[in-house]
Parts: sequence; C-alpha cells; structure tokens
Amino acid sequence: MKDLVLIGGGHSHAIALREFAKSPLLGIRITLISDVLQTPYSGMLPGYLAGFYTFDEAHIDLRPLANLAQAEFYCDRAIALDLQQNQVLCANRPPIPFDVLSIDIGSTPATLNVPGAATYAIPAKPVPKLLESWQQFREEVLQSPEQIRSLATVGGGAGGVELTLSIQAHLNKILAPQYRQNIEYHLFHSSSHILSSHSQYAARTLTKIMQNRGIHLHLNQTVTQLKKQTSERLELNCQSGLTLECDRIFWVTQAAAPDWLSASGLSTDNQGFIQVNHHLQSVSHPNIFASGDIATLLNNPRPKAGVFAVRQGKPLFENLCRRLQDKPLISYHPQQQFLTLIGTGTGKAVASRGRFGIGPFRLLWTCKDWIDRRFMEAIAPKG
Ligand SMILES: Cc1cc2nc3c(=O)[nH]c(=O)nc-3n(C[C@H](O)[C@H](O)[C@H](O)COP(=O)(O)OP(=O)(O)OC[C@H]3O[C@@H](n4cnc5c(N)ncnc54)[C@H](O)[C@@H]3O)c2cc1C
Repeated sequence: MKDLVLIGGGHSHAIALREFAKSPLLGIRITLISDVLQTPYSGMLPGYLAGFYTFDEAHIDLRPLANLAQAEFYCDRAIALDLQQNQVLCANRPPIPFDVLSIDIGSTPATLNVPGAATYAIPAKPVPKLLESWQQFREEVLQSPEQIRSLATVGGGAGGVELTLSIQAHLNKILAPQYRQNIEYHLFHSSSHILSSHSQYAARTLTKIMQNRGIHLHLNQTVTQLKKQTSERLELNCQSGLTLECDRIFWVTQAAAPDWLSASGLSTDNQGFIQVNHHLQSVSHPNIFASGDIATLLNNPRPKAGVFAVRQGKPLFENLCRRLQDKPLISYHPQQQFLTLIGTGTGKAVASRGRFGIGPFRLLWTCKDWIDRRFMEAIAPKG
C-alpha cells in the first residue's frame, strides 16, 4: 500500500479528488490534510462579498469530496515537512508519512511585515478570517448606520479592486439611501495605475468606475505603517506623508508563501514558492508535487490566479497517478494569456485578456456566473 498525501484543499486538489472519485487507484491510500472543512472557490469570492452567492454556493465542502475519493480527511494545519523521513508534521496530530506528497495551500498577502499590518489589517487570506471580519463589520454598520466610517483597501490588483467594489455594492444594497454616504472607501496602490498586470482598457475602465462610485484612489502611495489611535480608530500612514484615519483596513497585496516550505529543504524561489518543473513536480524532491499559488513553474512563472490552480488540477491528478505507478509523467504547459472577468459588484463585469478588454456588461457577469456555477457543479454536485 502506497501513501499519497495531499496538503491543502485548494482548487487543483479539489479537481484531483474529483478525478480520484471517478477513477480510483488500487493499492493507494489517499489522505487530505486541510485546515478548513469548506474551502472558498476564488471565482465566486467577490460575488459572495457582493451578496450574489450564499456561503455554500461559494465554497467547496471537502468532506463529501474526500469521501467520494475514498480519502482519509484530517482537518488540521500542516506546519512543517520532515523530508528525511518523508513525513508531514501537523499542528494537532502525529506525523503523517507519505510516499508521494502534493501541496496546494494557496498563498497569503505579502508585506504583512509593514509595522502594524499583522496586528491591525485584515488580510485577504486566509479567506475564513477575511469573511469573519467582513461579517462583523457588516453587523456593526447595520446596528449604527448613522455613524461615519472609513474603509481602506491596500493593494490595487484584481483582488483589491473587486473586494472594494463588492463590499461597497453590498453595503449600498443593505443600507437605506440616507446612510450610504456615511461610509467612505479608500484604495491605496503603490503604482501609478491599478490592475498593472491586466489590459490598459480594464485598468482605465475600473479606475473610472471606482471614481464614479466615490471610491478614493490613492495611487503611487506606499503604506508604511498602521497603528491604533486613542479613539480606537486605525491610522494608516504612507511614505509620502499621507495619513488616513479609518475603521477597517483590508490587505490585498501580492501573494507570499509560508516559511515552513523553504525551511524544510524544498527548493523554493526567492519569495518562498515551491519551484516545480513542467510536470508540477518539485525540482529538488521528485516525490513531491505542488500546484496553484504555492507553486512557481521554474521556466514559465505565471501570475498567482485561481485560473491556473484550476487548469493544473487534471495534469496534477494524472502525474500523481503516474508517479505512484512508476510511469513517465506528462507535461503541463500553462496558457500565456488568460481571460479575467472582473466583477463590479453590481451585476456587471469587465473582461481583460492580454492587451484587450471590454465592458462593463451585464452579459459578461452572466457568463462568469454560468462558468463558475458549472465549475462548482462539476466539483461538488449539490443534492
Ligand atoms: C479577494 C480576492 C478575490 C480573488 N478573485 C479571484 C478571481 O475572481 N479569479 C481568480 O482567478 N483568482 C482570484 N483570486 C486569487 C485566488 O484566490 C487564488 O489565486 C486561488 O485561490 C489560488 O488557488 P489555490 O488552489 O492555489 O489555493 P487556495 O484556493 O487558496 O486554497 C488553499 C487551501 O489550502 C488550505 N491551507 C492553507 N495552508 C494550509 C496548511 N498549512 N495546512 C492545511 N491546509 C492549508 C487553505 O485553507 C485553502 O483551503 C482572488 C483573491 C482574492 C484575495
């Protein structure tokens, strides 16, 4: 009996488990280690914040999925790897041995080492904490809508832009018109324009949308410190001297990796992401595979986006099976350009692909909704 251990219930592992359910491998024991029971589907996260989806619609329940794949499910957090003994060390249980290991644990926002950020900011990941803080803020707003509040987002990539638009749209929906102006929205970004890795059309259009909706854009602003004021409000300081008093600060900066991976001796890039070859296989440890945000393809690094984690699911499954059966591995070649549909929070989306973009259109949101629901139905059919 060989042991295949999967750490993290990210997008690629959800797909791999679905494939194992369809085509079980004899003589293989599968174990899934996940620190959550239900993992968020990134494509639906902004729609969930905007109020278009329920929690269950936007999350993959890993228990039935593991069950279908006949995998053991451990709800625990992997904290280290012992690569001499081929074991995963977890926060709350004895070490878990593996013959083949696969890691799909996503990422967390970088630069949380800015003074005060780790204490006062709400990082976009882990998502359950983000959602908890958001629900708490939502309740506070509903209880005292007359109070003047400010929300800040740090990071002007697709995640930060969608999060800000979605939260604003949600609060506008649930607040009576006379209270809507009581919440100010601010977005801080260190470059001269938002959405730097998307088409200029998307960047221009979403800048206009944000400005028209009264969201204050602070471009070329590097946040250097967060602190608490005596009034219990937070203070955000920028390198330029700009200061903002606010009530919540969402931290949606570029992706970063946890330290325990590089500490284990796995080959990682200079940001701590696992270096993999075109088989999604660690370049230093051939019995270890990685996918999604936590992996960096050595000769073809791609942006950290859910779309790649999804695309890697099937080749990952195929190569895990082949490695376990001592067969030659297949190659995975990521697409160079990919379509991003960025929601406005109001039932429309802007499309961006390479240098091109269109929207905002309601039809684009309808397409995104259809794609995402179809994906979820394929992964975790309801009922
Ligand atoms: C607000 C926001 C909106 C976004 N919107 C989009 C979008 O519309 N489209 C898009 O393509 N991308 C989007 N992204 C990016 C997207 O979330 C990530 O690229 C994607 O989730 C990566 O998938 P993954 O499979 O690598 O990991 P994840 O989806 O992050 O899954 C990793 C899983 O591993 C678990 N885990 C983590 N550490 C451990 C551990 N030590 N032990 C056990 N389990 C662990 C986590 O709880 C999680 O369940 C968005 C990101 C944010 C923050």
